[in-house]
Amino acid sequence: MLKALKGRFEQGFRTGKFPDAPPMLSDRFPGRPVLEAARCTGCGACMRTEVCPSGAVAGKDGRPEIDTGKCIFCGACAEICPEKAIGFSQEYRMAAMTRRALVVRPGEPYIPERPTNREFLRFCGRSLKIRQVSAGGCGACELDFNVLGTLAWDMGRFGIQIVASPRHADCILVTGPVSRNMLVALKKTYDAAPRPVWVIASGACAISGGLYAGSPECLGGVEEILKPDLYVPGCPPHPATLLEGMLRLMNRR
Ligand code: SF4
Ligand code: SF4
Repeated sequence: MLKALKGRFEQGFRTGKFPDAPPMLSDRFPGRPVLEAARCTGCGACMRTEVCPSGAVAGKDGRPEIDTGKCIFCGACAEICPEKAIGFSQEYRMAAMTRRALVVRPGEPYIPERPTNREFLRFCGRSLKIRQVSAGGCGACELDFNVLGTLAWDMGRFGIQIVASPRHADCILVTGPVSRNMLVALKKTYDAAPRPVWVIASGACAISGGLYAGSPECLGGVEEILKPDLYVPGCPPHPATLLEGMLRLMNRR
């Protein structure tokens, strides 16, 4: 027993300081895209259809916009830009409560959205019980959501827990583009949850279909059948992006 206690004492406190301190991110972490309006000449190279694998770059008035709900953060648009007008910041706070807020426009300042749903705050301001549904996900979004349950992140300290049954859930977190095989299971899970129930679309696939958009085997994301209350970009979303979004949804940030 003493040996075990000594071991625990020597290990110290392993949970990260987030959200009191910013999360530790790799230098290579591609966060929210930055579009430098002053550099862009409108040459259109980044907007060519063969450049972006998920069709996330659209042109408006000859200038690009990036839909982070579609983006898989591959960096191809930044690589092809001759003016270095596209870059990726270390901004991990990318989750949004509206689909529109996921679109990055040149020169537009980024202001993280605040929750407006008072009903949600009344129910889930202190805790959030989540039933996760992998609706055709590749496993990456699911793995990085699981990471939030580990010692390093310990989402349980915020009252956020994964529950086994939708009967115990406040929220359904969906990953994957919603394959046709998972459609009935997702609908049944949603229907089995007590009302009110909220929906989180986690990852590019769940938001827009991602790389699978247009496939006859899947829908183009959750939105085709359920209205998400939180959209979490990434392929997969970084655990900090997902946790920060959930805490903001709960009005705890
Ligand atoms: S980084 Fe995103 S927007 Fe740019 S090419 Fe890759 S998927 Fe498209
Ligand atoms: S490639 Fe660069 S310069 Fe050309 S339109 Fe895109 S952002 Fe602008």
